[in-house]
Amino acid sequence: MNSNEIDIHKELKKYFGFNHFKGLQEKVIKSILAKENTFVIMPTGGGKSLCYQLPSLVQEGTAIVVSPLIALMKNQVDAIRSVSTNDGIAHVLNSSLTKTEINQVKKDITSGITKLLYVAPESLTKEEYVEFLQSVPISFVAIDEAHCISEWGHDFRPEYRNLRTIIKQLGNVPVIGLTATATPKVQEDILKNLDMSDATTYKASFNRPNLFYEVRTKTKNIEADIIRFIKQNKGKSGIIYCLSRKKVEAIAEVLQVNGISAVPYHAGLDAKTRAKHQDMFLMEDVEVVVATIAFGMGIDKPDVRFVIHHDIPKSLESYYQETGRAGRDGGEGHCLAYYSYKDVEKLEKFMSGKPVAEQEIGYALLQEVVAYAETSMSRRKFLLHYFGEEFDSETGEGADMDDNVRNPKAKVEAKDNVKKLLEVVRDTKY
Ligand code: ADP
Ligand code: MG
Repeated sequence: MNSNEIDIHKELKKYFGFNHFKGLQEKVIKSILAKENTFVIMPTGGGKSLCYQLPSLVQEGTAIVVSPLIALMKNQVDAIRSVSTNDGIAHVLNSSLTKTEINQVKKDITSGITKLLYVAPESLTKEEYVEFLQSVPISFVAIDEAHCISEWGHDFRPEYRNLRTIIKQLGNVPVIGLTATATPKVQEDILKNLDMSDATTYKASFNRPNLFYEVRTKTKNIEADIIRFIKQNKGKSGIIYCLSRKKVEAIAEVLQVNGISAVPYHAGLDAKTRAKHQDMFLMEDVEVVVATIAFGMGIDKPDVRFVIHHDIPKSLESYYQETGRAGRDGGEGHCLAYYSYKDVEKLEKFMSGKPVAEQEIGYALLQEVVAYAETSMSRRKFLLHYFGEEFDSETGEGADMDDNVRNPKAKVEAKDNVKKLLEVVRDTKY
């Protein structure tokens, strides 16, 4: 079928039940159907999956989707199967399959039933699979979470570095890279490592106009300050992120003692407790979850009203992701970070045991967080600039939604003090 003849709106309704495309989806899908290399940058929740799922369903051949998370792949396969009459329409190829299952997958692909084949990057390096895939028609290769290819991303996966070599062995197939990481450095890395500098890039805005950004200097009264904040926001749901499990436990306890319904969440708790605490938060049996960054991936609570960072995050990328869990419904979302230079030193010490290259990247990312915490300019402008996006801090959407813009004076004084301290520390460090 000629790509111009496909009524993609009709297909959208038929397979996904939606009446409209979201954001840049339609453009991206047209680009993929035109067999172009395509690079998609959209925030989490932007609807990236549909960008490759829909074109795979309406084209000849099988689309290969590379994704780092097996659970995620399974979800997507189940979702696609639920709207089809044939379970063979989507498959996962991974190391857990039996010989019989692998043969069924191969049979479905060969007979042209399978439109989507999800693979983990390490499975794709298996010679046996590559040989097989060379012998069948491939519509395109989509690389989800493409930032995994970059050491500057938050989730570097060395296996992603082999992808280009393998894709080349599949012949001349279009490549689609997708990510929610918007920093120019990571984007550059993706295009370079996938050898797709010719790709057409589709980048959605990362501005979240309903989020209010605030940084407070961290003092020894931080606990009282947090309690006051939560009491002022009574009845609202919020997340408090802490760096360590120990701190998570301590803060959760302090909140409970002060009459705030809060539960801890970190990877040191057993799976049952974690699931219980997460459900309590989702069902609004508790107002606050105090957590390490282990909490949040894939959690979709639309009315989280505040995200507090008790300790600074390790990068602005993480900060954006973590604060992004507030105000998903478009309503109010207060993002409050506590900052002290001591925490920066703590994080640096943390990193000092790591390989040199990793350390350097870690320090550089951290310096951006420091700069964000200390800036007196519009925080939204600062964040969006970090993501390579121009923001007009006078007329842009959400322009007055941060402490610096609302209250310019008080900040400057605090900032100068910290800056002096910083210079001393930096000079001794480098
Ligand atoms: P991403 O991978 O960009 O984080 P997903 O692909 O997981 O986002 O999609 C996020 C949500 O948006 C899903 O629940 C999906 O069903 C929904 N979605 C995607 N496209 C549309 C659309 N055109 N209309 C309505 N909802 C959509
Ligand atoms: Mg996704």
